Amino acid sequence: MNQEAQQAQSVLAQLNTLLPHLESVYKDIHSHPELSMQEHRTAGIAAEHLRAAGYEVTTGVGTTGVVGVLRNGDGPIVMLRADMDALPVREATGLPYASNATADQDGKSVPVMHACGHDMHVTWLIGAATLLAQNRDAWRGTLMPVFQPAEETGAGAQAMIDDGLFKRLPKPHVILGQHVMVGSSGTIGTRSGVITSAGDSLQIRMFGRGAHGSMPQASIDPVVMAAATVLRLQTIVSREIAPTEAAVVTVGSLQAGTKENVIPDEAVIKLNVRTFDEGVRQRVLAAIKRITNAEAEASRASRKPEITPLDRYPLVKNDPEATKRAVDAFRSYFPADRLKDTQPTAASEDFGSFGTEWQVPSVFWFVGGTDPETYAKAEESGTIADIPTNHNPRFAPVIHPTLETGVEAMVVAAQGWLAE
Ligand SMILES: [Zn+2]
Ligand SMILES: [Zn+2]
Repeated sequence: MNQEAQQAQSVLAQLNTLLPHLESVYKDIHSHPELSMQEHRTAGIAAEHLRAAGYEVTTGVGTTGVVGVLRNGDGPIVMLRADMDALPVREATGLPYASNATADQDGKSVPVMHACGHDMHVTWLIGAATLLAQNRDAWRGTLMPVFQPAEETGAGAQAMIDDGLFKRLPKPHVILGQHVMVGSSGTIGTRSGVITSAGDSLQIRMFGRGAHGSMPQASIDPVVMAAATVLRLQTIVSREIAPTEAAVVTVGSLQAGTKENVIPDEAVIKLNVRTFDEGVRQRVLAAIKRITNAEAEASRASRKPEITPLDRYPLVKNDPEATKRAVDAFRSYFPADRLKDTQPTAASEDFGSFGTEWQVPSVFWFVGGTDPETYAKAEESGTIADIPTNHNPRFAPVIHPTLETGVEAMVVAAQGWLAE
């Protein structure tokens, strides 16, 4: 074991003592999930722990964001990021600490669940920040835990940046983040380069002319226009993108009309695009615009469709040098069978916004949350796809060893920069 791993180990020596508290924090946050930009209670818990550990704490950054700063002598500045928000999903895990929470979303009451594991991320970061603060002899530099709102709407990282995060904080040398995913609990998946896809959501309004259902000649039928558009959009990936490249175009919503004998005035399509390369992304977005306009014209529409971006997630690209440093730190601490190379996922993250805007290298990795026995069985029978994924109402990471693994990974990676 090298010096760095020893320093990580000395920070983590008290993890077992802290673990029961972290478990109760996790269950508490899990049963009190909050929607994007409403994470007041969760932010309060994070801020309270940072204060108790001796951090300077700034709250309310980008609505509910929390930032801690702990200066501990000369050395690198390391930012650690966790996202805090939950999803409008009705929990179906049956866990004793399951959520019954509801919240207001656009004036409607919706069920809320931590279906993406951000409760685990918050707990990991509380654990890592606490242990590093308690063991300041084992490192030098500045530590900046950042608890971010609204990852699920793609608005949170940008909201913190727009609220002057970069002016209020010293510029870090590296930004580290992690996500719980389907995978054997206790394992860590790393990758240099692209790790999560770029995501673009768009709304397309197509304009027709309403008429009585019995007089189609008097109408410009937006239902037919939209239906043709949806089908043609599916040729982008199959006919315009090379088989060696990857993209997803999903139309998740198509709405028009209210009654069978009324031809409506307009139709609204909502779609989502995932890409792993900026060039491919530009081509897909241009094709969507071209096809939409052409279909409107083919239908004699008098107005061009209105295309509005709904949200946008940048590519998360792991800096090769920084990734090597983090992976070397993992290798010196974790047994080899707990470290995996991972493929890029079509899931998207706004974690990349910090590094991109700040021009700072960042590293993002995955921590497995599936019971190891369940995962091994599913692997053997080829049924991994049946394990409830993030955003599924039955998504339920096992607490152990997922909880301790994420705390260890965060401390070990941070020590890759901070260790004496
Ligand atoms: Zn999510
Ligand atoms: Zn997530």
